[in-house]
Parts: sequence; structure tokens; C-alpha cells
Amino acid sequence: MSDCPFCGIVAGEIPGRIVGENDHAVAFLDANPMAPGHTLVVPREHRERLADATSEETQAVFALLHELAPKIETAVDAEGATVGLNDGSVAGQEVPHVHAHVIPRFPDDDGGPIHVAAGSRPELSDAELDEIAAAIGDD
Ligand code: 5GP
Ligand code: ZN
Repeated sequence: MSDCPFCGIVAGEIPGRIVGENDHAVAFLDANPMAPGHTLVVPREHRERLADATSEETQAVFALLHELAPKIETAVDAEGATVGLNDGSVAGQEVPHVHAHVIPRFPDDDGGPIHVAAGSRPELSDAELDEIAAAIGDD
């Protein structure tokens, strides 16, 4: 996609601090980091949502996350990392090219766990949980 910044970085047309790559995924530093070492991992092809990416591409993205997360932590002397992606604009996705974030975490940062991203917990009965599980399992 011509106006996508992440396609531009993958193609080498936009400057990006690339920190790792494999056949189907590329990792580069976030231009506006939430923490030192904040890294994005994207499929090489333009895929808007996670479900748009192929199984091979999602495996490549996860393989890079697995390879790089400890290296990122070591590089910036972090004690852990928040790893996740905003899938869809309702979830906060701003760039419409799938990207997983690795955000290094420090004991004195003012962040929280990934749970806070979704707000407060809904009250769900056992019956509702059963119904949801069945709906997800059916395809
Ligand atoms: P989202 O909200 O879509 O999950 O996150 C988008 C992320 O992409 C943000 O953290 C933002 O700082 C980063 N970003 C946006 N444009 C660029 C860019 O042109 N280059 C790089 N390296 N990061 C970008
Ligand atoms: Zn793109």
C-alpha cells in the first residue's frame, strides 16, 4: 500500500531503525516510543488486521517477537516487556498495517498490565461464558 508508513519502512523507502527480520516479518524501533527499545514487528506484506495475515506471516511475526524480546530487554536493561497488538481502530490501532508492539517495562514506569487496555471487567454468568465459548469454537 503506497501511503502506508510501515510498507515504506519494509521497502526501504522510509528511514526505519530495523532491528531484525525474517522471510515474512520485519522489526523496527517505534518512532514515538512509549519506552526505550519500543519495537514494532510487522508482516512484510500489507495486512490491515491480524485475521488478514496468513498463518505463515503470523508465525513469522511471532518468531521475531520470540527472538527479539529478550534482546530488546537486555539492550535497554529492562526487567520485562508488554507484548501485544491493537487489532482494529476500536482497540486503538492507528496504523492500518498489522504490528505487534514490544514495550520494555521498568519497575518505576507508570504503565499497567495489558488488562487495563479494555477498561473494567464485565459481569458474565457461567451460562454467558458457556455461550461465548461455544460461539468461538463454532466455525
Ligand atoms: P497503534 O496505535 O497503531 O497500535 O500504534 C502505531 C505505532 O506506530 C505508534 O506507537 C507510533 O509511534 C508508531 N508509528 C507511527 N508512524 C510511524 C513511522 O512512520 N515509523 C515508525 N517507526 N513508527 C511509527
Ligand atoms: Zn503497509
